[in-house]
Amino acid sequence: MKCVACQSEDFIDRGRYKYIRGDAWQKYAPGLRLFECRNCHTTQVNHDRLNLPMVIEYYGGSYRGDGHSATSAAGFEKKVRRGVGLARLADKYLDQAPRDFYEFGAGHLANLEAARRVWPGVTLLCDDADKNAISNSETVDYAPLDELDRQVDVLLMCHVLEHLIDPVAELRRLANHIAPGGILLIEVPNKPWPSVNGQKSHDPHITFFTRDSIALMFRKNLADVFEVKETGTSGEIADTGLKYLVKEYLRFIKRRFTRLTRIDVTNPVSAPDWVFETRPDDRGSTLRLVATKL
Ligand SMILES: [Zn+2]
Repeated sequence: MKCVACQSEDFIDRGRYKYIRGDAWQKYAPGLRLFECRNCHTTQVNHDRLNLPMVIEYYGGSYRGDGHSATSAAGFEKKVRRGVGLARLADKYLDQAPRDFYEFGAGHLANLEAARRVWPGVTLLCDDADKNAISNSETVDYAPLDELDRQVDVLLMCHVLEHLIDPVAELRRLANHIAPGGILLIEVPNKPWPSVNGQKSHDPHITFFTRDSIALMFRKNLADVFEVKETGTSGEIADTGLKYLVKEYLRFIKRRFTRLTRIDVTNPVSAPDWVFETRPDDRGSTLRLVATKL
């Protein structure tokens, strides 16, 4: 087994992966374990147990029916505000408004709405394994990258990379579809081991990046196609100690409750310190990276 970020083979076995009981993901990817790379500290599952067609099938069907809170349509405006923060991060490195904005794994389209607010007139394009999530939009074109006849100016992957079996190979494929000078924008959870360890469940994430580990992955494997401009964090400011455990527990209960009742429960856990703009530190719950295509 090789680290998906740095290719080291030196791991700390961190024990069993925690599934939500009865979750569909467990049927698609049973018996996973967690390993922390000693070199770059990316925590990851034993990826060799995963099978790509099965993973795609899961995301095309069960994923959004599973009550994963991040994938629900609830809290749309808040997600748009997060998307505006992401679009502004890309805008810092563009000379002019982009012609088109592409979201890979677009879900409920909040980031595309954000792009429209930041750059009125931009062409909005996306794909998603779950076509039902995007089929009823009139402002967004569903366009698999392989079928596009041109390269895009901005490509966003928001909470996608941590789901992929081989993130480097996928980023290299996506690079072919970004115009030279164009922008790659990434947001993933910010997950050093203590934070991974504190989670009540891990599914369906399979790689847990830190600010340093995602930067190392780009430097080591992708420096010929992307130049990383900036990394930082956003989102909730991470709590520590007892406060963190209580909050994670409440989150877990919320997800179970949502699954059992299929009611959209919006933010029963208060978020006192929510940041939408990118901060140059490690404190936020999500991690951002912006790179230009060479
Ligand atoms: Zn590594």
